[in-house]
Amino acid sequence: MTSLTLALSKGRILEDCLPMLDRLGLAPAGDIDRLLRVPSRDPNLHFLIIRPTDVPTYVEHGAADLGIVGKDVLMEHGGEALYEPMDLDIAKCRLSIAVVKGSPFDRPPGTPTTLRRRVRVATKYPEITRRFFAARGEQVEIIKLYGSMELAPLVGLADLIVDLVATGNTLKANGLVETEIICQVSSRVVVNKASMKMKHAALRDLLARLQTLRAAA
Ligand code: ATP
Ligand code: MG
Repeated sequence: MTSLTLALSKGRILEDCLPMLDRLGLAPAGDIDRLLRVPSRDPNLHFLIIRPTDVPTYVEHGAADLGIVGKDVLMEHGGEALYEPMDLDIAKCRLSIAVVKGSPFDRPPGTPTTLRRRVRVATKYPEITRRFFAARGEQVEIIKLYGSMELAPLVGLADLIVDLVATGNTLKANGLVETEIICQVSSRVVVNKASMKMKHAALRDLLARLQTLRAAA
């Protein structure tokens, strides 16, 4: 039997995936909080439990045959080297622009700025942000952060943030408002292009099983 390696994004996506994998009889058979490589209950499937942003890299290079990762991470990484055969419709949220409520930046999208400097945008997604503003002819100064983006506009580090929003509660709690949605986000299955050829039958089977869960949901 062909054996497959599936790279799973640690954190929220992993939590949302576990019930799905369990229903397929593919739950991890090991301590997913400590182990980085974990067998599944199916002897032909192993998991790599890694940082979300590393999933595209592992799959692209064939260290994993397939992976489960957020559309946000894929868009930032650039997904051209990967197949993206399935939207799992889990870990749903959106990537949005937010500002301090009532600040000069709290205004309709595309309003011309009277600033004599570039608008500063704090984000974990510099590529998506650059492309989004460039597409409408705006050049912004991007400030790359690794977390807690909400803090940046509160302390004057940035004018806007580009961040993930699910309920909006975190924004609200910090006095921020969402002014624009950049895109909707959910978790996707990505597949290594060589694996798709070399391990076609095994991958087709696994994808079909994942697909039945989607259909049942
Ligand atoms: P890292 O450890 O690399 O910093 P992270 O802290 O961003 O990763 P999570 O917060 O678990 O990790 O987010 C992982 C993915 O889950 C995101 O890339 C996104 O696709 C999805 N996600 C993030 N926030 C939410 C949310 N509030 N609701 C639903 N899905 C979310
Ligand atoms: Mg984190």
